[in-house]
Amino acid sequence: MESFAYKTPQSVAEAVQLATGEAKLIAGGQSLLPSMKLGLAAPSALIDLGRIADLRTIKVETGQVTIGAMATHASVAESAAVKAAIPALAELAANIGDRQVRNRGTLGGSLANNDPAACYPSAVLGLGAMIHTDRRTIAADDFFKGLYETALDEGELITSVSFPIPKRAKYIKFKQPASRFSLVGVFVSQGPAGTRVAVTGAGAGVFRVKALEDKLATHWAPESCAGVTVSADGLNSDLHGSAAYRAALIPVLTQRAVAAS
Ligand SMILES: Cc1cc2nc3c(=O)[nH]c(=O)nc-3n(C[C@H](O)[C@H](O)[C@H](O)COP(=O)(O)OP(=O)(O)OC[C@H]3O[C@@H](n4cnc5c(N)ncnc54)[C@H](O)[C@@H]3O)c2cc1C
Repeated sequence: MESFAYKTPQSVAEAVQLATGEAKLIAGGQSLLPSMKLGLAAPSALIDLGRIADLRTIKVETGQVTIGAMATHASVAESAAVKAAIPALAELAANIGDRQVRNRGTLGGSLANNDPAACYPSAVLGLGAMIHTDRRTIAADDFFKGLYETALDEGELITSVSFPIPKRAKYIKFKQPASRFSLVGVFVSQGPAGTRVAVTGAGAGVFRVKALEDKLATHWAPESCAGVTVSADGLNSDLHGSAAYRAALIPVLTQRAVAAS
């Protein structure tokens, strides 16, 4: 690992001011530190967001839950407010990685990193959430741009995410057992953002499946998805599962999620 400076800003404004050039924001460090150890990232400075208390708050307001970017997966999983308003979101957080990952990893870090197999992007897209940054608000539909790519500009800092409270929602993950990342994960919801089916793990990034959404919008029942096939074109194929296998899992997991919602 290359040497680097380490800064501990006390506010969002200070963090943004420091996050220039080759400096990088660090949240839980669960993705950034391994990539530094592997030599894939060599920031000149780490700007640690851990001292900015405002970034950890979880608020339930009329019709929405707003979660700070530095809320850990464990704090979302254990939040009584999240469990009551959007149980599928608390459950998703409770099943990310292992205990250490959940105690360090954060919502903002997961979204900024946009790993193609991460769980949170499917909830953000599957609920039609809004991502707030230090300078603007980005709709989930405009945020994810593909493999590890997002709409964030250089140095732009996610401050929080607002999730509309759905009528019903559920996340089902077919796990890669070693890492517990999703081989395929499907988040379904019906609510203020319409009927949504968001898939993670299967492609270069999270995506919606319109054919399933259309069927479920007409009739929210597992059998509505029977007979819908998803093309394997462009899906991931690796030692854990072929593209065809992942494609076949999408309607199956959607039916299970709808049945459990
Ligand atoms: C063994 C293991 C298993 C895992 N299993 C799962 C799983 O099952 N499901 C899952 O979804 N994830 C999983 N993860 C990923 C983990 O949950 C973290 O969410 C993820 O690693 C990034 O979050 P972090 O807070 O650690 O971010 P960091 O590693 O600190 O940062 C990641 C990137 O985001 C940027 N960043 C961080 N915070 C912000 C911000 N507020 N604004 C803008 N940019 C920011 C950083 O500059 C960096 O580029 C796993 C990780 C490990 C190591």
